[in-house]
Amino acid sequence: MTVRTRIAPSPTGDPHVGTAYIALFNLAFARQHGGQFILRIEDTDRARSTPESEQMILDSLRWLGLEWDEGPDVGGEHGPYRQSERGDIYAEHAQRLIDDGHAFHCFCSSERLDELRKEQMANKQTPGYDGHCLHLPKAEVEGRLAAGEEHVVRMKIPTEGTCRVEDMLRDPIEIDWSQVDMQVLVKGDGMPTYHLANVVDDHLMGITHVIRGEEWINSAPKHLLLYKYFGWEAPTLCHMPLLRNPDKSKLSKRKNPTSIIYYQRMGYMAEALLNYLGRMGWSMPDEREKFSREEMFANFDIQRVSLGGPIFDQEKLSWLNGLWIREELSPEAFADRVKEWALNRDYLMPIVPLIQPRVETFSDVMPLAGFFLSGMPQIDEAAFEHKSLERDDVRRILQYALWQLEATRHWDKEHIFPGLSGLSKAMDFKIRDFLFPLFIAIAGTSSTVSVIESMAILGPDLSRARVRHALNLLGGPSKKEAKRWEKEFRGLQAALEG
Ligand code: GLU
Repeated sequence: MTVRTRIAPSPTGDPHVGTAYIALFNLAFARQHGGQFILRIEDTDRARSTPESEQMILDSLRWLGLEWDEGPDVGGEHGPYRQSERGDIYAEHAQRLIDDGHAFHCFCSSERLDELRKEQMANKQTPGYDGHCLHLPKAEVEGRLAAGEEHVVRMKIPTEGTCRVEDMLRDPIEIDWSQVDMQVLVKGDGMPTYHLANVVDDHLMGITHVIRGEEWINSAPKHLLLYKYFGWEAPTLCHMPLLRNPDKSKLSKRKNPTSIIYYQRMGYMAEALLNYLGRMGWSMPDEREKFSREEMFANFDIQRVSLGGPIFDQEKLSWLNGLWIREELSPEAFADRVKEWALNRDYLMPIVPLIQPRVETFSDVMPLAGFFLSGMPQIDEAAFEHKSLERDDVRRILQYALWQLEATRHWDKEHIFPGLSGLSKAMDFKIRDFLFPLFIAIAGTSSTVSVIESMAILGPDLSRARVRHALNLLGGPSKKEAKRWEKEFRGLQAALEG
């Protein structure tokens, strides 16, 4: 058997370090067994998937030095590798399940399902579908379908017994079928859900080992049942521990930058970031901290993954990056890396239109554009003094703006500006005053180029990290304050949307 593993990202945002971490372990496992590693784009969520996000994911994984043998950009024998291009395959498989009596059409309205959920919650029952459409007469179903009535397709679930999930890293888990919901397989818009598409693709793409994040473990019973319904052999499952913030909560962008692009922009070496991700739940037999990708692959053993939640700690990463910079780069290589990092055309081009009209000599460029090429600006509390803003105003503005930026899904000036200007009006500040603390947080000064355009260029994680840094500098909200502020912010937001 040739080992075949895969990474299956959904292109719905910035490329996440968690994706790179899972990709690395899949690649290591495949390489160790002389197998293949596949990249598949799971873009069945049409509303949230974007081609830009897909491109950023491919670019970031490649920047890290992860390569795939088959994928949407390199091709392969099992394509297409983008789920949005495999619609017919899923439709055919859903029909097969219906014909074989393993799935059924469900016409329940979202109102009915909401009512049902409320009732179940009130009765302290596990929320789930009650089987209302499970036994509709065939003629009725056909009539309703012919009339074009909106519907989904759900999978049948055994009414009794248990499902046994085996995993490479843990003892078998037994789950009662009564705990498993009659999962929707095809949505109202005709698109498959993750569950159907994922199982069909893993099978058709010959995936032998599914190594993925722990958050998917609850889906395993449904997936195993689908394999059984189709009469296919299920791949071996392996659920990896989730990355955590230093406070042990699940790694999230609200507390830490999670985008690979952030780490690239901050000037981490790809080799060091990959090395650090290799340290997440895994160690070399001799426990050394610094190792290359090849050294990891040569020593890889998935059984050495430990399940305690690995902590992704930026300070530790910086320390490791320092080792790489000092020990692995000759002076020439160092110069080349810095040049490539700071002065590459892709990054500079969007900055040029902001800078060029404002300079007389090239030596004016760095003082003006330096904040595009640095981490956190060198600022202190005094920098935030302003004639019409109290210190508490500044703190509130920074915190509310941070929440607003966290909720900004499309990161460009056309989306960043209306969000912030609406907020400034709702908070009753003049936009100039409101933007002042953001100027200081982002650029370290208010006499510079547009702060909105600057944030658009710096990207969501680096912009938010700077605002968070400024807020910490001034003393973030106390627990009580945070509660009160968050309530007020939600109220302002609701008023703005309403
Ligand atoms: N599309 C899923 C994700 O974004 C893939 C999960 C899996 O590996 O099965 O994580």
